[in-house]
Amino acid sequence: WDMFVLAFVERIFRPTFRKDDFQLGKKLGEGAFGVVNKVSLTKKPGSKEGDLVLKRASEYGAVEIWMNERVRRACANSCADFVYGFLEKSSKKGDEYWLIWRFEGDTTLADFMLSKEFPYNVEAMILKEAQDLPKGLERENRIIQTIMRQLLFALDGLHSTGIVHRDIKPQNIIFSEGSRTFKIIDLGAATDLRVGINYIPKEFLLDPRYSAPEQYIMSTQTPSAPSVPVAAALSPVLWQMNLPDRFDIYSTGLIFLQMAFPPLRTDSGLIQFNRQLKRCGYDLVAWRNNVEPRASPDLRKGFELLDSDGGKGWELLTSMVRYKARQRTSAKQALAHPYFDREGLLALSVMQ
Ligand code: ADP
Ligand code: MG
Repeated sequence: WDMFVLAFVERIFRPTFRKDDFQLGKKLGEGAFGVVNKVSLTKKPGSKEGDLVLKRASEYGAVEIWMNERVRRACANSCADFVYGFLEKSSKKGDEYWLIWRFEGDTTLADFMLSKEFPYNVEAMILKEAQDLPKGLERENRIIQTIMRQLLFALDGLHSTGIVHRDIKPQNIIFSEGSRTFKIIDLGAATDLRVGINYIPKEFLLDPRYSAPEQYIMSTQTPSAPSVPVAAALSPVLWQMNLPDRFDIYSTGLIFLQMAFPPLRTDSGLIQFNRQLKRCGYDLVAWRNNVEPRASPDLRKGFELLDSDGGKGWELLTSMVRYKARQRTSAKQALAHPYFDREGLLALSVMQ
């Protein structure tokens, strides 16, 4: 009831918008299901709303609005700040769903990672204390560790709410200049798991570069789905049985891998890695044994980074990127991993 009353009161005081309120700015993205633009408000120039982001989406927009509303109430800091969503009826173009967020910033993790400066281009924004370490493995490890902590924190928020994202990738992680943290965006593929569907009818929505090997996120023995409004109550028992959140963990593991290994940051590098890993039966240790002996210095750097501090990074990575979903760690468990143990890191820097 508290939640209900709160949601109701919030609904009354929240601003509502219509199509004519927005002036289109720069296009930020265009997928198969919608266009994303930076927008400003026409009526109240200079109002406190500031810059906004508008996504105009097809029929899938309905679920994306629903997901964003839920995130707003349950784990607001995990995702970009959602402002409002509505159905825009149009006889010409067909109905469109309009979704509005606050503009969080210009840079996604993908943009940061494609720069030669990575991870140093992120450092000043997320690590408050001046880094007195010299440039090198330990300092890079510490930046990557902070990014991973923020990512897993956001993911844990989503998963604790019962939402599986299914499209976790650097392009869907935005740096919020306001909160100086990375936030998750694009809940457009987070649909069917919430409804407990036992297969993925919109499988083409998934990005093969970051997808876990399992085709069926929920086991095929799962009873068939309730309809969308009932989805909020996706059975915790089903969740425990199928661990659908581990799909996102695999994708997050691949991002960790890309951050550690510079050659894997490009599309072609990642695609090649995926092929190699598949050939190794999705066994990261086998992959390592295979490539390490003839690794380029750039690739070797990744192993060195993950091996530093007693190999905790490598240990965490291998607990995320595993063939079997149930053998993967959860976001919450990962956050408690010794890799994130600051004490240990500081001790190490004193020792050296
Ligand atoms: P899609 O991938 O379906 O086109 P996204 O929701 O991922 O749609 O948005 C596309 C791009 O727009 C993102 O990669 C990001 O660059 C930008 N973007 C989306 N939401 C925001 C936001 N709240 N603040 C700033 N930029 C955003
Ligand atoms: Mg996207």
